[in-house]
Amino acid sequence: MVHEIIHIICGNCGQDLTEKNMATWEYKPADIDEETGEVYDTADVYIRCKNCTTIHFLDDHIESEVRE
Ligand SMILES: [Zn+2]
Repeated sequence: MVHEIIHIICGNCGQDLTEKNMATWEYKPADIDEETGEVYDTADVYIRCKNCTTIHFLDDHIESEVRE
């Protein structure tokens, strides 16, 4: 059994973003009208590097099955 190990490094300053308290990981759910199902805003996932304050958006790197 191999444990999952992942390293995510800030491309600007080299900070390890998986290190405790060195990054803020945020998920913003999609904004969808409950009655009509219309999507006002798609969901976003991003990591904010606390060392150099760069915000890295992950949606550029994720392939979605749903494209508007
Ligand atoms: Zn950084």
